[in-house]
Amino acid sequence: MLPKSESLSPLPQRLEHDLEELARIRDPESGGWTRTMFSEPYRASREWIRSRMVEAGLDVHVDGAGNIVGVLAGRRPGAPSLVTGSHTDTVESGGRFDGAVGVLGALEMVRQLNEHDVRLERDLLVVDFLGEESNDFGLSCLGSRALAGELVAADLDRHDHEGRRLGDRYSAFGLDPAGVLGAVWSRSRPLHGYVELHVEQGPLLEERGAPIGVVTAIAGIERLLATFAGRPDHAGTMPMGDRRDALVAAAEAVLAVRREGCGAPVHGVATTSRLISEPGSANVVPATVRMHAEMRSVDTAWLSSATRRLADEIRAKAEGYGVDVDVQWSTDNVSVPASGEVHEVVSGAADALGIAWEAVPSGATHDAVHMARLCPMGMIFVPSRGGRSHCPDEWTELEHIVTGVQVLAATVLDMDRRTR
Ligand SMILES: [Zn+2]
Repeated sequence: MLPKSESLSPLPQRLEHDLEELARIRDPESGGWTRTMFSEPYRASREWIRSRMVEAGLDVHVDGAGNIVGVLAGRRPGAPSLVTGSHTDTVESGGRFDGAVGVLGALEMVRQLNEHDVRLERDLLVVDFLGEESNDFGLSCLGSRALAGELVAADLDRHDHEGRRLGDRYSAFGLDPAGVLGAVWSRSRPLHGYVELHVEQGPLLEERGAPIGVVTAIAGIERLLATFAGRPDHAGTMPMGDRRDALVAAAEAVLAVRREGCGAPVHGVATTSRLISEPGSANVVPATVRMHAEMRSVDTAWLSSATRRLADEIRAKAEGYGVDVDVQWSTDNVSVPASGEVHEVVSGAADALGIAWEAVPSGATHDAVHMARLCPMGMIFVPSRGGRSHCPDEWTELEHIVTGVQVLAATVLDMDRRTR
């Protein structure tokens, strides 16, 4: 007989202890909490995660893609499995909660299940996905991408800014690149559903006073590379009206990106992240500029019209300064809706526990985007103080994390019983 989910009460001290232990493992040379993909601190933290998974009673292995997978065997071998998890890598100078909450929260849930002698019908897989954060190779979510079959051989030939090849980085980390490509789950493992607990990384839940967010969709990301070609001239002699200043044209584009973001209807944002101006000499009019920007939204129609509008505006403004511009958009990921069924289970679990929740979109991308290719997907958010994330000030109250784990446990129990 399964107990009522409300009797599964995560222990705050145990969760806090795990969060503190993991936070101790970081790059001492960088600020904040830094465990970037393939780094030594990341390797050390994965060893620690692995041992914590074993202590929690999971049967642990590292799969071909480098994901750490802990299996809690269910009563019915062969029944489609449930999956939860997140990531433990960080951005440079990141925070303590992004990703960690989903992995360590899932471990506390497993300890609760074991301590209450709850045996699930299905196998439950707790995954610490490899390299979720964006990296120099231009591919985030490497582990979940590989499971979904979205990592291809050509990706292994991508290079980072130091000229290192992705395939070689895998090898140096002890992973066989061929094994990475062969780690696709759809071929080997039927899945029942995926649910991920994560910090919101935005301000909506705090503003609305809700301890739980039930994610509606994960934003799509369109990346822009605009290359402005003007003309190098002497900065002291060329009259203002005769210049073809690439940086001035790019500056107009930066403002146009911001205007599009401000005009977005449903949680749309637009950001210019980088301008590289050449030749960069004090006495030369800028001749070429490369500009990197991105737009995100869960509203696919707006996203595609906004990218077209923005491209037109950037070209028109550049022409006014006599500057040629090449505008290229590439899709990082398309917007992915959460499964209606998982949404219903998560919100029903929160209701049954008497916990207030809000339906919220995710502006950040997650491993859940790729897991959605394999099975019905949902996410549970807990509030981020001040909406801050990817910085050392990132903070989520322990009480909210405990609530998130409770909702995760109730969700897993409900989904476990459901057939499809
Ligand atoms: Zn994350």
